[in-house]
Amino acid sequence: MSHRISNFNPGPAVLPEEALREAREALLDYRGSGMGVMELSHRSALYEEIHFGLMETLRELLGAGEEWEVLLLQGGASLQFSMVPMNLMRGGRAAYVLTGEWAQRAAKEARRHGEVEVAASTEAEQFRRVPRGEEVTVAEGAEYLHFTSNNTIFGTQFHDEPPSAGAPLVADMSSDFLSRPVRLDRYGLIYAGAQKNLGPAGLTVVLLRRELLDRSPAALPTMLSYRTHAEARSLYNTPPTWAIYLASLCARWLQREGGLAAAAERNRAKADRLYAAFDAHDLYRPTAERESRSWMNVTFRLSDPNLEKPFLKGAEERGLVGLKGHRSVGGMRASLYNAMPPAGVEALVGYLHEFARTQG
Ligand code: PMP
Repeated sequence: MSHRISNFNPGPAVLPEEALREAREALLDYRGSGMGVMELSHRSALYEEIHFGLMETLRELLGAGEEWEVLLLQGGASLQFSMVPMNLMRGGRAAYVLTGEWAQRAAKEARRHGEVEVAASTEAEQFRRVPRGEEVTVAEGAEYLHFTSNNTIFGTQFHDEPPSAGAPLVADMSSDFLSRPVRLDRYGLIYAGAQKNLGPAGLTVVLLRRELLDRSPAALPTMLSYRTHAEARSLYNTPPTWAIYLASLCARWLQREGGLAAAAERNRAKADRLYAAFDAHDLYRPTAERESRSWMNVTFRLSDPNLEKPFLKGAEERGLVGLKGHRSVGGMRASLYNAMPPAGVEALVGYLHEFARTQG
């Protein structure tokens, strides 16, 4: 713990140091039980407190009332690409907004279960932006409208929900979950892998409106039905107890830091610092269009691509790691999730100016 660098990885990603320190203690002896937290039975009272505690903290952070189910699942956001259509599509059709690779993967899985209509796509513009509201068309009879609120690879983010013409809105919030307040009344279902903004890998959170549970076909495999997990309060089988424990510490840390409104202010300020540094030098080329810029994953290139390697090397030497862009698009990407401290961003801003002065 004495050596913590600035970790800009896209997920698994940096976690709050406070939570890690607490978890370190709990590894060997959880609250004087003589057992480490990973050694607790998932049927014990000690574990249940952690499990239901995380659900409660998530409800408080998001303002989710009794009309919402909070599910703690496994299989990553990628399994939700399948579970969403299996449970909600009723063999009919659903609308998908295509804003990048994750959205495309979600649509691809949905096509196995029904008809997918593309409500909007920005592929022709290399996903440099998300569509504006008026570009989204949801055909009548769509069982839901799916969109990816933050596009981890392309560095774009919706700053307003796409209009869904009355269809329940379903969002993959993997890379901006809990990074800002959410207008829950607009949504039917939200899912997110925990390993970016909430905790370690191994946990996927699903929030869904209770009324949508009626859609799950009875013939679904037990483990793939939302109803199974809702009825068993996410204890149908052995849950990922360690990931849930660590997520519960991170969620409580977020609460102590002022909740989602305060997180949004910090996240926006961090991203703005980077975008302002790009504007100051011709060397840096942010890849996302201004109105679609993400506060979570800041993607950019250098005007001279030959400088990208030395840029990344210099960054590593200064303890700024994880800045290489996704292998499918190249360039650079700084991921600024909740637990990235402002000091890490300031160190990167300092390096951006320094590199531009010496190489630009
Ligand atoms: N959706 C988004 C927006 C993502 O960023 C990712 C992972 N980077 C996924 C889905 C896939 O998540 P997982 O690896 O948890 O299946």
